[in-house]
Amino acid sequence: MREELVALAKLAEMDDSARDIDAELKQIPQRLEEMRNSVLTLETMLAQERQQLSEAEQLKAKQTSELKERSEGLQRARKKVAQATSIREADAGEREVEANRRAIKEREDELGRIAQAIEAKTASLAEREKDFEETKTSLQTDEESSKTRVAELEEQRAKLLDGRDVLAAKVSKTIIKRYERLKTGIPNAVIIISDGTCTACRMALPPQLTIELQRANELHQCPHCRRIIIHKAVVEG
Ligand SMILES: [Zn+2]
Repeated sequence: MREELVALAKLAEMDDSARDIDAELKQIPQRLEEMRNSVLTLETMLAQERQQLSEAEQLKAKQTSELKERSEGLQRARKKVAQATSIREADAGEREVEANRRAIKEREDELGRIAQAIEAKTASLAEREKDFEETKTSLQTDEESSKTRVAELEEQRAKLLDGRDVLAAKVSKTIIKRYERLKTGIPNAVIIISDGTCTACRMALPPQLTIELQRANELHQCPHCRRIIIHKAVVEG
């Protein structure tokens, strides 16, 4: 058991030394994923805004052609008034003139609102396009630099964990499993103590446990923080 504990202590030390690297290796793809999502969101918004702009342009064309029809209608109505041979005809012509005038006014107001909307949409679209291009470019840059960084980290990690397999082979599978499980929840899952206190959680250990730890006959965990504890005397032999 003593040899197993020594191997486990060394293995845990190795893992701890690679902990920052592991965290960065996990964080890099997450960050890239978030950036890819941002690019996709901006792309969707951009498509929506382009669609809205094109709808506004269509509306403008429709209103413009209606305005033209009404202007022609107004000309015809004025002609009718001028050429009227009776009061009834003249009244009918006047009503037509009035109806066309109202319609022209409405179309002109509407075209004014559409022009404003088009102007605003064009400006925000330009802004959005700029945003999209910038985000896309920084994603590409980040993807490139991340590739280099991941390669660097993996090389460092391999160096730090060199010999881990040999150590792991010296520890029983049950203990390795227990250690791996602990490791996912807490940093420094194995700690080395030199007196009756758990150095991780600072709680005093029962005196009997401290004695048993020095005997190194079995695996012990801190009753407070659940970390595996190994006595310094065991590791140092
Ligand atoms: Zn503890």
